[in-house]
Amino acid sequence: MRPGGERSVEGGACDGRSELELLKLRAAECIDEAAERLGALSRAIWSQPELAYEEHHAHRVLTHFFEREPPAASWAVQPHYQLPTAFRAEWEPPEAQAPSAAPRPLHLGFLCEYDALPGIGHACGHNLIAEVGAAAALGVRGALEGLPRPPPPVKVIVLGTPAEEDGGGKIDLIEAGAFTNLDVVFMAHPSQENAAYLPDMAEHDVTVKYYGKASHSAAYPWEGLNALDAAVLAYNNLSVFRQQMKPTWRVHVEIKSGAHDYYNVLPNKSLWKAYMENGRKLGIEFISEDTMLNGPSGN
Ligand SMILES: [Zn+2]
Repeated sequence: MRPGGERSVEGGACDGRSELELLKLRAAECIDEAAERLGALSRAIWSQPELAYEEHHAHRVLTHFFEREPPAASWAVQPHYQLPTAFRAEWEPPEAQAPSAAPRPLHLGFLCEYDALPGIGHACGHNLIAEVGAAAALGVRGALEGLPRPPPPVKVIVLGTPAEEDGGGKIDLIEAGAFTNLDVVFMAHPSQENAAYLPDMAEHDVTVKYYGKASHSAAYPWEGLNALDAAVLAYNNLSVFRQQMKPTWRVHVEIKSGAHDYYNVLPNKSLWKAYMENGRKLGIEFISEDTMLNGPSGN
């Protein structure tokens, strides 16, 4: 429904509050009513962290949550939607489910993430993203149910999107068509600040391989070319370069390999990988260029 429309909220008093405010209040009441179930959902995911694409416990907790939301079967749940640990749950007002000449409903999406990191678990709180996504969907549903009939043409869709920390589950889902026909999609991420808009980061990865020359590191080291030294110097150059980077730039570098199986052989191969992030894609290209100039050229 458009803010400022003519509908009134069932039972809503005309006490000077706008219709939109009353709808927000109704949504908040519905979330408060479900607070215990939502909190349990979040704690269950947080206490058993799982890595990307392996979120079987979190997936089970979330799909059961929507399957059991009263009244029974009010959410149509597709438990392994496009990916084994993704899901899709849909709700629309019961009257809207009968085929009719009604206009196509607005497809309103909410996302739940639920993967964690190795060793540090839910470090940035994807369990809370799952809880907030579910809560928002329940709130909108409650607000819509409070409107007089016929219901507005809105379909609420919750997408469970695995593998955010690694692998890019949303990319898989986009390519599989999961976002096709969604008119608007919301997601919330925990943060130290309250913000309606969280600037996202464009990301670009670069992998650099060095090939040196193996030699006996005790008998004839001067015959070799040490590929590990090349990777270490590139890493150090990038670390020094960070001082000149803009506040929005992020460059994270890892030396992925550089050791030979035998200690007495000079490493003849090494590999490092840089993860570059910026608020804008244009900046990414600039970072990549500068990083490349300051990294490998330092050797
Ligand atoms: Zn996160």
